[in-house]
Amino acid sequence: SDPFLSVRDLYVRFSTEDGTVKAVDGLSFDLERGRTLGIVGESGSGKSVTNLTVLGLHNPKTTQIAGEIVLDGQELIGARERTLETLRGNKMAMIFQDPLTALSPYYTVGRQIAEPYRKHRGVSRREAHLRAVEMLAKVGIPQPKLRVNDYPHQFSGGMRQRAMIAMALACDPDLLIADEPTTALDVTVQAQILDLLKDLQQEFGSAIVFITHDLGVISTMADDLLVMYAGRAVERGSVGEVLRSPQHPYTWGLLSSMPRLGSDVDKALTPIPGSPPSLLNPPSGCPFHPRCAFPEQVGGGRCATERPALPEGRGAACHLTAEQQRTVFIDQIKPR
Ligand code: SF4
Ligand code: MG
Repeated sequence: SDPFLSVRDLYVRFSTEDGTVKAVDGLSFDLERGRTLGIVGESGSGKSVTNLTVLGLHNPKTTQIAGEIVLDGQELIGARERTLETLRGNKMAMIFQDPLTALSPYYTVGRQIAEPYRKHRGVSRREAHLRAVEMLAKVGIPQPKLRVNDYPHQFSGGMRQRAMIAMALACDPDLLIADEPTTALDVTVQAQILDLLKDLQQEFGSAIVFITHDLGVISTMADDLLVMYAGRAVERGSVGEVLRSPQHPYTWGLLSSMPRLGSDVDKALTPIPGSPPSLLNPPSGCPFHPRCAFPEQVGGGRCATERPALPEGRGAACHLTAEQQRTVFIDQIKPR
């Protein structure tokens, strides 16, 4: 059967004053119901842009999108704004890093959970209000009947995050996109919210795309993993496969700097020498070649000229042979 979410050969380009930004450059992946796909990569790797594209949240005047995004049999690229509006919050929902980007300060938390539910389900105000109370209880807000009438500023940061999750899940979305949903929270609250997301996935059977730079979080949350670099997928596999035997030198770099849950991830990622490439003018060949330590092992200057393909299923977009990957990773990288 067809996958629940299928992204094929996705290209996303933004026109800016400085030129065209190649934010996503030929990305494909699938996701089934009840499964979680982790997407990792540094800032600017295209992981957030990809998911904003799935949700249809780009300005069509400044964005060129090509490829296919099929959700439950429906093509989303080129879909009418009305169609996307109906899908957002109903069939697909997003949890952002910062709840203040999703919650308005001017309306009560309860109203912000209830209104989309009322709109999508056509239920009465009273029913929608009860749903808001129910969802606040589900995400562990104490005294939900009372707190449903609070404004966001009356909630703590962790409670706002929970309220945003309640809002995202109120309509039982089939697809939930979580973009760094816990990065701003302290470790205890972070762990609680991750548990909560897993419980809610069990209950609703949602497919989840979980975006983070934090491999510690991904190892507890995801079934499958996609590593992105410069708008491309450079490695994919099950979480166990990728974390135990990573094949791409960029993933080796991420793993050797693997942060603990809740640590300062931006600082933890600095051990990969060099900086992320410019997407205005991406490197030729393998986009990682200016930062990679292994182009000589490949030889022939291929890394700078020939773009390595990512195989279907488990694999990495790298010219190193499987044997070279094993020797380099096991002999040189892992012991450190
Ligand atoms: Fe490094 Fe070459 Fe592999 Fe790219 S293709 S990751 S430059 S070895
Ligand atoms: Mg981001």
